Amino acid sequence: MAVSLVVPGVRSVPVVEEQASCVPEEGTGAYDLLRRYGVTPQRQPEIPREYFKMPQDEREARTWEYRRQLGDRLVILGHHYQREEVVQFADFRGDSYKLSQQAASRSEADFILFCGVHFMAESADILRKPHQQVILPNLSAGCSMADMAKIGDVVDAWESLHDLGIDGIVPITYMNSAASLKSFTGENGGIVCTSSNAAKTFDWAFERGERILFFPDEHLGRNTGVKKGIPLDKMVVWDPFKPLGGNTPEQLQNATLILWKGFCSVHARFSVEQIEQARRDDPNVNVIVHPECRLEVVQAADMDGSTEFIIDTIRNAPDGTNWAVGTEINLVKRLAMEQPGKTITCLDPVICPCSTMYRVHPAYVLWALEHLAKGEVVNRISVDEETKRWSLVALERMLSVA
Ligand code: SF4
Repeated sequence: MAVSLVVPGVRSVPVVEEQASCVPEEGTGAYDLLRRYGVTPQRQPEIPREYFKMPQDEREARTWEYRRQLGDRLVILGHHYQREEVVQFADFRGDSYKLSQQAASRSEADFILFCGVHFMAESADILRKPHQQVILPNLSAGCSMADMAKIGDVVDAWESLHDLGIDGIVPITYMNSAASLKSFTGENGGIVCTSSNAAKTFDWAFERGERILFFPDEHLGRNTGVKKGIPLDKMVVWDPFKPLGGNTPEQLQNATLILWKGFCSVHARFSVEQIEQARRDDPNVNVIVHPECRLEVVQAADMDGSTEFIIDTIRNAPDGTNWAVGTEINLVKRLAMEQPGKTITCLDPVICPCSTMYRVHPAYVLWALEHLAKGEVVNRISVDEETKRWSLVALERMLSVA
């Protein structure tokens, strides 16, 4: 169910309720889709209803008071896709990797409250200082894309490929993946990438092998492969629910790029038809999209790039320019509010927020801070030492090419 709000600079901005249908093709919520992937999202224990029922101004005043009490002992991180009512409390706003680095640089902070999703909090735990503890306000704030690649399925795929005698495979995992996958990648000669450095990590991989197994985002992998000049007939998709991922041994032998069948339920919604409509509405519009969008959408857009690239490009554009943006609505709304001299709209008229990040309701932020102020750590995210060790190897390789 979607309710429209009028936000200056943004055409018809619906507030989509938590279980809104916004997964492409499936007509269902992200969690229904994940159940079909065999994933049971982590569940947040119930917190007292009073945190939700209290008036917003009271909840905000109490949150600010605990935030003041905790002072430098606490750093709050807010992802770009986080809702405004939460991001207002953040000391840093950014993408997942940048935020983790910023948290680790605040060594005086004992607690890192990550207002993002689960894999982001795991990354912060991997990069944190030894005395720091990472907290995710709502444990059920996962990432539908990250959950589409389970470690057991990736190991099965890896072994199947080697059983076929296919060697020279370098695994690359997108930052948006579980720590177990980052660790697998580090242990097996691979590397982590972000949406801004994926092309460089492909170069790194091809210096060490002949083919890439890329997970969990099929679209970022394909878009990067095309930019690197890999023909589409040298790419295959690995579906974890089919024998050999749905491929013949010959197709796999012939492949340069093996793409995991996973996608972002937000970015996969954008379509070429939406771009055509935006251009009919405004022939001068600049269309900019994230590379988690489908290949045909990226190719139809004027430009594509990471969240930081989208922010920088629009911020640096002159006033009077018009932008149709293919990324998460909270970021688009914020850009529009911060830059009233430009017309900034979302490409998708049925706007879909990241429904999993949306689970970080301000009530959970207050609940977590109230416990911290009493000296109790709730919802700690902790990655085991072995997983952390190999994840760091894969992350350090990424930094070496950045
Ligand atoms: S926007 Fe997509 S990739 Fe990012 S956290 Fe949400 S579901 Fe995951």
